[in-house]
Amino acid sequence: MSAADRAYDVLHARTHGRVERALPIGPMTSYGLGGPASVFFEPATPEDLPALSAAVAASELPLLMLGRGSNLLVSDRGFDGIAVRLGAGFRWTRVEGSAIAAGAAVPLPTLAVLSGRHALTGIEFAIAIPASVGGAVRMNAGAHGHEVGEALASVEVFRLEAAEAETIPAARLGFSYRSSDLPRDAIVTGAHFALAAGDDASIQERLREAREWRRANQPLNLPNAGSVFTNPPGDAAGRIIERVCGKGMSVGGARISEVHANFIVAAPDASADDVYTLIRRIQRRVKEEAGVELVLEVRLVGQFEEVPDGAAAR
Ligand SMILES: Cc1cc2nc3c(=O)[nH]c(=O)nc-3n(C[C@H](O)[C@H](O)[C@H](O)COP(=O)(O)OP(=O)(O)OC[C@H]3O[C@@H](n4cnc5c(N)ncnc54)[C@H](O)[C@@H]3O)c2cc1C
Repeated sequence: MSAADRAYDVLHARTHGRVERALPIGPMTSYGLGGPASVFFEPATPEDLPALSAAVAASELPLLMLGRGSNLLVSDRGFDGIAVRLGAGFRWTRVEGSAIAAGAAVPLPTLAVLSGRHALTGIEFAIAIPASVGGAVRMNAGAHGHEVGEALASVEVFRLEAAEAETIPAARLGFSYRSSDLPRDAIVTGAHFALAAGDDASIQERLREAREWRRANQPLNLPNAGSVFTNPPGDAAGRIIERVCGKGMSVGGARISEVHANFIVAAPDASADDVYTLIRRIQRRVKEEAGVELVLEVRLVGQFEEVPDGAAAR
């Protein structure tokens, strides 16, 4: 019996969630690229999570948490492990005075709209970040000078190794630019946001401005995963890439966006390897010509291969 069979059997026997073998997970990401996961699991509720600990222990397969897939590039060869996307039991919100609690599968923009409806301020910047609450906590997503970590009071997690739930105060999560010290085996199941009562008209104005800014400054018509690289200290990755590589540099169906040089957009014929190859070529040129090591913000899932030069010109 293969490791994937063992994981599948445990999850199938012990949970109420959706369990699949060899399910394409590329379509669950904003790029829409990439192959299948050996095992796909969608826990219906938190009660399904202890079985996931058992499945990981029984199979020793790696685990990938999928939020809304807006920061992931999945390999064309897929992911040899268990991909987990939280199900309906993780899509809830609760307004408690000036705080909002939300399940980890709730889209961040939904939360921003909800806060606006209750005249609560502190999360308006998130209105156009296409994240889930879980992915936004892991990445400390941010925009317009604010980050998710600033608005958080605490995070509910399920620890895979101990197979138990835990509440972690935000102060212990070590949030920094696009990063957190969330333990590696922690699955975010929910989060508590500490907001403040605000002026309704000003909140609506900030929400409108944040939406407008997106439309004007980011490519919205071709699949992408947001900023590919983090900004180096004191500079902007997009500015450096534009100077060194120019906008429009491409590999196969992947190319640097004309709208924002830190975005790589994927045409319908793009492969994940095209995007990967373009990433590596940008990194090499920027290192050679500007002396800057660009660090990936997008997370790579699975094994990639660079497309040879000739093959890329199709
Ligand atoms: C058009 C566009 C615009 C964007 N703009 C911004 C922006 O302004 N600011 C910004 O910060 N980002 C931006 N992004 C990137 C992306 O939205 C963020 O990185 C976001 O936090 C990813 O959330 P997600 O739910 O899609 O997570 P995914 O991409 O699915 O996963 C990201 C990481 O989080 C982990 N993860 C996901 N869910 C959980 C969970 N429940 N528990 C533990 N770990 C989990 C994953 O394993 C992975 O390591 C943009 C992306 C796009 C496509």
